[in-house]
Amino acid sequence: MDRRHFLKRSVASAAGIATTGVVATDASAKTVKVKTRLEYGQTIKEPSRRIPVVDSADLIVVGGGPAGFAASVAAARQGLDVIMLERGYFLGGLFTGCDVTLLNNMYSPTHNGRVQAVFGICDELCNRLDSHKMMVWAGTPPNVDTEATKYFMEEMCVEAGVRILYGAHASEVSMSGDRIDAVFVETKSGRVAMKTNFVIDCSGDGDVLAWTGEDFIEYKNHISAMYRIGNVRNRTSGSHTSNEGVYTMHLGQGISNVDGLNAYVASKAQLDLRKKMWEKTLDVRSKEGNENAYLLSTPSIVGVRVTRVLNAVLNVSVEGAATGKSYDDVIGFTGSDSTLHWGDTRIPGKDRKIWQVPYRSLVPKTVENLLVAGRCFGYEKGLTYDAREVGTCFMTGEAAGTAAAQAVSLRRGCRDIDVRRLQETLRMNKVKLEW
Ligand SMILES: Cc1cc2nc3c(=O)[nH]c(=O)nc-3n(C[C@H](O)[C@H](O)[C@H](O)COP(=O)(O)OP(=O)(O)OC[C@H]3O[C@@H](n4cnc5c(N)ncnc54)[C@H](O)[C@@H]3O)c2cc1C
Repeated sequence: MDRRHFLKRSVASAAGIATTGVVATDASAKTVKVKTRLEYGQTIKEPSRRIPVVDSADLIVVGGGPAGFAASVAAARQGLDVIMLERGYFLGGLFTGCDVTLLNNMYSPTHNGRVQAVFGICDELCNRLDSHKMMVWAGTPPNVDTEATKYFMEEMCVEAGVRILYGAHASEVSMSGDRIDAVFVETKSGRVAMKTNFVIDCSGDGDVLAWTGEDFIEYKNHISAMYRIGNVRNRTSGSHTSNEGVYTMHLGQGISNVDGLNAYVASKAQLDLRKKMWEKTLDVRSKEGNENAYLLSTPSIVGVRVTRVLNAVLNVSVEGAATGKSYDDVIGFTGSDSTLHWGDTRIPGKDRKIWQVPYRSLVPKTVENLLVAGRCFGYEKGLTYDAREVGTCFMTGEAAGTAAAQAVSLRRGCRDIDVRRLQETLRMNKVKLEW
């Protein structure tokens, strides 16, 4: 199929039109239930095959974004053999791959200055960046240098003994009852399987929890992008970077209210967003002094904000975040600087309390050896802005990795770990749990 026909088909399918004539007709197509959110007219039977088991680990972390990074480092430091599966070829997920760079929720802005809410591995990474003068701005929120962040994340993983596998797209799990016992992975070396005692889903989209049949909720949001323009002499907008004349820009709402899990929609969004980034760059170039400005970088990962979130043992409520509610099983605090709507009450960013995240919001109701961290842990829809910010993702990741280490070493399920002991370990690792 040539490019023109592929794009035509992509657009048709994104619009919800089923495509036909690709595979031989399967008479049972109407009755067989298949797992996809795409429109389809026919099904085809994939021949069964044996998959080589190429590796095994105490823990497999799916996704190398802020949550997956923190989860992997925390667990490896507790002595677990950890494989981190990342479909791309860098760490940081949207934080580094979408040029986000602003580490929201690590601090809360207040009337009197700011309060630090997230500590532990997130703080350590920032200190490492700072000591190498790679923090673009150490304010609220901190603004980090993207490439240095990718580098130091890898460095911290390697030091902790995490086995990073890039180009590794986790695609399914094998279960024995309520336990995951292997993860299937698509790689350039073919489809392979890896055995494990425990999995942390840091895919951002709750991929693993969906494969296990675990309960989840879907939140639609917009797909957007951050990008960099270089050689700007006459600044019009954008935030500073490490380089003079280079600014990080934001497309804002981008493409609104779309299904980030529809492959055609996400692909089309990336095409449309790149066109917008190009046009914005031409706008900047049209300003006097900016004749030589250029589009320096665009995201290497599509800017999907939120899709599936775990319907956890306890989802963090808007009320809990608004009132700064205390939980016996607190695993960390998170800052906030966004306006929150709680019933009829509107709480502006500067009046927000820092809020607690309970362990139960990472815990699924059924699967025994799974935790969920990052933008797909359990929270109410009203928190989609707050709960997926980078600071919160680091924090939930570290707690999940620490909890997994205990579960594996004591052979316990995710709902049976000793939460007091988890909290002690987190405190020892400089996570602040008291205020
Ligand atoms: C346009 C935009 C602007 C934003 N601006 C800000 C901001 O200013 N400040 C802020 O704090 N936050 C911001 N965010 C939100 C923040 O970047 C994300 O919510 C955060 O990075 C989520 O971290 P995560 O680790 O949960 O997931 P992600 O960052 O999404 O990382 C998930 C990782 O898992 C990998 N992965 C996914 N599925 C698989 C699979 N099946 N197998 C293997 N690997 C897989 C992905 O490649 C990725 O590396 C923004 C987001 C967007 C889209």
